Amino acid sequence: MLLIIVAYTVPKLTDYSAAALEQAAGECIAACVTDAQSVRNDAELKAFRDRWMARKNGILTQINDLWLKGAPKDAKREAGRCVNQIKADVERTIETAENLLLERSTGVRLTTEDIDITLPGVRRPIGAEHAILKTSREIVSVFRQLGYSVSEGPVVETDYYNFEALNFPPNHPARDTQDTLFIAGQQSKPQRERLLLRTHTSPVQIRTMEKMKPPIRIVIPGTVHRNDPPDASHSPMFHQIEGLAVDTNITFGDLKGTLDHAMKALFGSSVKTHFRPSFFPFTEPSAELYVTCFICGGSGKREGNAPCRPCKQTGWIEVLGCGMVDPNVFEFVKDNGYDPKKVSGFAFGMGVDRLALLKYGVDDLQYFYQGDVRFLQQFG
Ligand SMILES: [Zn+2]
Repeated sequence: MLLIIVAYTVPKLTDYSAAALEQAAGECIAACVTDAQSVRNDAELKAFRDRWMARKNGILTQINDLWLKGAPKDAKREAGRCVNQIKADVERTIETAENLLLERSTGVRLTTEDIDITLPGVRRPIGAEHAILKTSREIVSVFRQLGYSVSEGPVVETDYYNFEALNFPPNHPARDTQDTLFIAGQQSKPQRERLLLRTHTSPVQIRTMEKMKPPIRIVIPGTVHRNDPPDASHSPMFHQIEGLAVDTNITFGDLKGTLDHAMKALFGSSVKTHFRPSFFPFTEPSAELYVTCFICGGSGKREGNAPCRPCKQTGWIEVLGCGMVDPNVFEFVKDNGYDPKKVSGFAFGMGVDRLALLKYGVDDLQYFYQGDVRFLQQFG
């Protein structure tokens, strides 16, 4: 038997009266039902569905364009109702065709009665901020209130930004402390152009100073990578927040005042801060900042004279590294107004993951990354 299918074409409407709309709709649905009867396999079902439903130039789209968008203003409401009715009928016709096809191939009969609309729905839990991001955001907000803005930069960095411009010359021993993960196949490039996963968020300091003239006050949150095998206190990927303030006449006193305020805002007004000399290639002088242990209050002892583990019974917890920006670093961005004879600044950087561990009293960093909802929902 030769079956000739005359494809349905959407007519242009001139008469928008209720009767004319109803007739046009009736013809359209009848055409759809006839079309559905020709479906005998998955390929034909797909073609049928596309013919009617394709977003681009499908019959429903054409109807929407011709009948609804083309309707005169006073007929829009009626035309809209008509188009919605057609849409619902076409969708039902397609669903019926799908079910018929399924029934023919599997012998399973699907009817609308199989769906019990009185059954309760599936409740999907609402997500919450991850403990590390939450901690990160808290720290950033303390500095935002001090007038700092947020800067971000690439995670895949060049050797130049990650090391050289931060006063780690090639072969400087301080590079060894960073356990860098390099991108493979870079040997043919000059060293400063070779790519790596940034080992700290500090490259963004240079990138920002290249773009913005002083004075600047920025905080830089972000992920960093180091070749550390995962254990209770290490992870090959972790989070840092770095800060930088550059202006004329910035002194170590500004650094101390800013960080003392920030620590009190983060850990409570009763914490005391304490600076110990340290070394970083990009700051001079450099210091490590300690705060009185916010778990034992600085006594080193827990209830019942038990030793306080987070502070190793010293009563102090190291929170971050900081220092005055080394004039050598300014030399790299001197042309953008950072003449080391005219400007000075301080920088600091902290590990967010470790602070989150301390803050929530978690003893294994890996819990944060294993994606176990039972653990993570405690912080929601
Ligand atoms: Zn303690």
